Amino acid sequence: MNRDYYDILGVSVEASAEEIKKAYRKLAMKYHPDRNPGDLEAETKFKEAAEAYEVLSDVQKRRLYDTYGQEGLKNSGYSGPGSAEDIFSSINDLFGDLFGFGGRNRQRNPNAPIPGDDLRYDIEISFMDAVHGTSREVELTRRETCWTCEGSGARPGYKPQMCPACHGRGQVIRSQGFFQVSSTCPQCQGVGQVIIEPCNDCHGQGLVNKTKKVAIKIPSGVDSGARMRLRGEGEGGRRGGSAGDLYVVIHVQPHEYFQREGQTIFLRYPVSMARAALGSEVEVPTIHGTASLKIPAGTQPGERFTLRREGVPSLRDKSRGDMVVEVQVQTPTKLSKQQKVLLKEFVEISGESHEEGFFSRLLHSHFGQNDKNQRASDA
Ligand SMILES: [Zn+2]
Ligand SMILES: [Zn+2]
Repeated sequence: MNRDYYDILGVSVEASAEEIKKAYRKLAMKYHPDRNPGDLEAETKFKEAAEAYEVLSDVQKRRLYDTYGQEGLKNSGYSGPGSAEDIFSSINDLFGDLFGFGGRNRQRNPNAPIPGDDLRYDIEISFMDAVHGTSREVELTRRETCWTCEGSGARPGYKPQMCPACHGRGQVIRSQGFFQVSSTCPQCQGVGQVIIEPCNDCHGQGLVNKTKKVAIKIPSGVDSGARMRLRGEGEGGRRGGSAGDLYVVIHVQPHEYFQREGQTIFLRYPVSMARAALGSEVEVPTIHGTASLKIPAGTQPGERFTLRREGVPSLRDKSRGDMVVEVQVQTPTKLSKQQKVLLKEFVEISGESHEEGFFSRLLHSHFGQNDKNQRASDA
């Protein structure tokens, strides 16, 4: 590989940059591995041409080479033909997607605006705040566009330079056998530009950390998992890119007594044995205050009553859900003397008729039948 670079490209020592580029382009197309699969000679020629072009297309390297030859290049730190990555990136530079492999990589415009990232903020609110709506002011630390450099990252008056490692593409290509693997350029992190004179305020990031209070209005009727989008309240954009959005994710704390399923509110409400038996009108708490509920005589444990429009307001319209009250009949545990007397009297008057009736029905329907079956099998 010690052939003269000018010989390799077939140009004179006085060749212009344009002539060198043209000559290289011709050779690269002729010997490209995609066109000559498995041809080792072509591959060698292809690499030689790339190496020659890399040196001769760079004014400084060409001057070193002209003066000191390949030794001079090595002493200056240029390690020579390098990696396939360099070869392919310089080819991409020249031909773009001519060979197909370049075209699969997203072409990056180094001046393209970079939109800001979206942010997520999780917020916990009480059950009642979710039902009735609330507003919060949260303090967020986020990266905002640096207005000193207008998000470019370069000190005012200085422009960012094209990244030399990826030639502005933001992607570098490594060759693994016949495969070309592209990855984000490590030098510029995919931006395609490097900042030579960084902005003092953002240290070249184009973004600065700022703490800002953001007012969040939470509408009535939200439920756990609801996601609100606040446009433009995310991180700032760079190079004129728009800001990202802020997503507020709602988490609702459970309530001690109320339960919720969509717009319906459930409440277990204790009612004394006597009130359940006699019927009564009671005041029950609702999420909006109180409501009166008629408990008919003979209400059984677990019976449910619906109070219309005492549920959760809709997020979409003015409708409201219902409230379902489940009656829990309470059996008294601590009876006063008088209560005991009255209950005993009640039992005597009833003559246990209720239980007896149930018991005899059970005997006839269940054991009675077994009895019959027994006899049938005996016979
Ligand atoms: Zn800046
Ligand atoms: Zn780069």
